[in-house]
Amino acid sequence: MTLFDSPSFANHEGVHAFADEKTGLKAIVAVHSTARGPAVGGTRMWNYGSAAEALEDVLRLSRGMSYKNAVADLEMGGGKSVIIGDSKTQKTPELFRAFGRAVDQLGGNYYAAEDVGVSVEDIAQARTQTEYVVGLSGGKEGSGDPSPVTAEGVFRSTLTVARRLWKQDDLTGLTIAVQGIGHVGGYLADKLHAAGAKLIVTDVNVPLLEEVAARTGAEIVAPDAIYDVQADIYAPCALGATLNPQTLDRLTVKAVVGAANNQLATPEIGKILFDRGVLYAPDYVVNGGGIINVASELKARQTGGAYDPAWVEGKLSRLMETLEEVLDRSASEKRPTHEIADAIAEARIKAAAEAKAELAAAA
Ligand code: NAD
Repeated sequence: MTLFDSPSFANHEGVHAFADEKTGLKAIVAVHSTARGPAVGGTRMWNYGSAAEALEDVLRLSRGMSYKNAVADLEMGGGKSVIIGDSKTQKTPELFRAFGRAVDQLGGNYYAAEDVGVSVEDIAQARTQTEYVVGLSGGKEGSGDPSPVTAEGVFRSTLTVARRLWKQDDLTGLTIAVQGIGHVGGYLADKLHAAGAKLIVTDVNVPLLEEVAARTGAEIVAPDAIYDVQADIYAPCALGATLNPQTLDRLTVKAVVGAANNQLATPEIGKILFDRGVLYAPDYVVNGGGIINVASELKARQTGGAYDPAWVEGKLSRLMETLEEVLDRSASEKRPTHEIADAIAEARIKAAAEAKAELAAAA
């Protein structure tokens, strides 16, 4: 199969491969769409088995960013990049400077940020070579750690779901199973606890678990046991694809609301959840707070302004309205929530592409 026939290619505007012999850089940047603005998405450093595997991953992830950015109503398109290599043993400042020079060649069509295996320090190295990176700390533009904003979005989404399913404005009497209490899950656990939820938590990091349990009164279970607990809501905040054929029959919950990316192993799982009456709040709607936070930094950069928490709050509120629209339409059209979210994102991208084409034709 050629690149153009791959389902993941999905009309990408550009796919760019970069190599730098001196630093060992091997990177692929995929620009899915710039219809709504420059493509923005993280850089993943991963020890891929082959370049083909890396290509497949970057294409899938970059298309996902177009959808996430559109659903969050950001003036940004979707893109992603991958650096092939082991982030624990092969990272050097020179490698990230070479990556910065590669990104710079795209002239602002794509902005890179942190993702799995890539830290704020790595992005700061890239920044020495290009202005086209975001997710930096410090300075008036810097947006810093996005996790608290992501957690706030997941928390508000949980309240939305509680209002719909249990007709209540807080989480009193509800049991929530939180999988992964890292950056987002930790903040989320505190918010859920403060709103009255009873928590069941798991993580592979035992000291972290004990810390969170001590301050929230959460019950701790082993990582694999989280799927079997009696709970009302499952909050995946660790890994992707945890909604899969193996876990589906074990879950007793009435709703899934969590921060993890790509929670559905396949789209069919979303349909099965819908048919079973389990309300799945689509991952990329629920967890869009983080990219909204990053977008504020880009906006500050473009306008010469500063990181603006009020703008972030406005976008987050609008995202929660979009979630309401997704849930309303899912109920009225009798279609799974992930399909409705995709339809909203696709319509927004299409409208922007058409407006851009009209402008170009008029020029
Ligand atoms: P993190 O690495 O800080 O936290 C993940 C936690 O999951 C860690 O504490 C880890 O020990 C735990 N974990 C790993 N394997 C596990 C397992 N098998 N069972 C239970 N726990 C396990 O990551 P994060 O920044 O909190 O992000 C969590 C998820 O949310 C990720 O999927 C990430 O892609 C997604 N996300 C994060 C943000 C953000 O702002 N950080 C934004 C959007 C989406």
